[in-house]
Amino acid sequence: MSSILIVGSVAFDTLHLPSGSYPRVVGGSAVYAGLAASRFSKAGLVGVVGKDFPKDMLERLSARGLDVSGIEIADGESFHWEGRYTDDLLHRTTLATDLNVLATFAPKIPDSQKTPRFVMLGNLAPEVQLSVLDQTTGPRFVVADTMNFWIDAKRPELCEVLKRVDLLVINEEEAWQLSGERNIGRVAASLLALGPKGVVVKRGEYGAMLFHEGRVFSAPGFPLDVVVDPTGAGDAFAGGLVGYLAKRGDTSHEALRAAVIHGSAIASFCVQGVSTESLESLTDEVLARRIEGFDDIVRFRRD
Ligand code: AMP
Repeated sequence: MSSILIVGSVAFDTLHLPSGSYPRVVGGSAVYAGLAASRFSKAGLVGVVGKDFPKDMLERLSARGLDVSGIEIADGESFHWEGRYTDDLLHRTTLATDLNVLATFAPKIPDSQKTPRFVMLGNLAPEVQLSVLDQTTGPRFVVADTMNFWIDAKRPELCEVLKRVDLLVINEEEAWQLSGERNIGRVAASLLALGPKGVVVKRGEYGAMLFHEGRVFSAPGFPLDVVVDPTGAGDAFAGGLVGYLAKRGDTSHEALRAAVIHGSAIASFCVQGVSTESLESLTDEVLARRIEGFDDIVRFRRD
């Protein structure tokens, strides 16, 4: 049995990047999070694709140790998202969100995955996230992500999810939107008041901040010379974080700090190639070296 259950979108993305346009490449929050989590632990994916989704991609995910038996293949077309990035890659505009098979998706968790130690609720409709929580039992640590699309369309449902979450992982602009606040301290306080026991605010190239048990931890972004495609970095961050926690078997504050660094390390690779290419080609050795690099960036002496 996998110790992590990841639910999220499994998608075709059409990306408009400074380097060119890439129609219908593989993406989705579950795919990015799963590829990241699988660097550290076994995970099962739950999601839906249409009959148009390439079988070899599902095989590639399973070759990485991901259990794909929870991915339903439905009649119809796969979820499709299209986005255009600015030349500096710091901002993006969503051009299309075609829910397709995702519009009617009712997740069915396989019996073998109903008692996970960790649940990662990737970016998806909050009702679907709730249904996953209702179908799983036992003590579990729940990490959730969301995005502007759902904050706009389904705020009350999202607030229901947040009452049942241990750690909310959210990017800064979406944190502003959800909290209605702008100052980072007030943003965190207002998000924690919605229910999660901890919050990680992702700040793109500037790293991420953890607010948990009255303490704050700040992880830097890894200074990169080249960024190619930021798509999925947030999902890879959350997947890496939960994968590391599962491997360590610990959800203490100290473990969460280390998990934020591991998530940041994986996310820093995600942005270095189009779609999933850099996550798929990443070796354990290169990943370990980057984690050491993070260690060096944050270490300091007081005397
Ligand atoms: P990120 O860059 O981490 O925000 O994640 C981008 C991924 O999220 C893309 O691969 C998209 O397929 C997926 N995505 C975009 N919009 C949605 C949505 N409304 N629901 C679920 N997944 C989405």
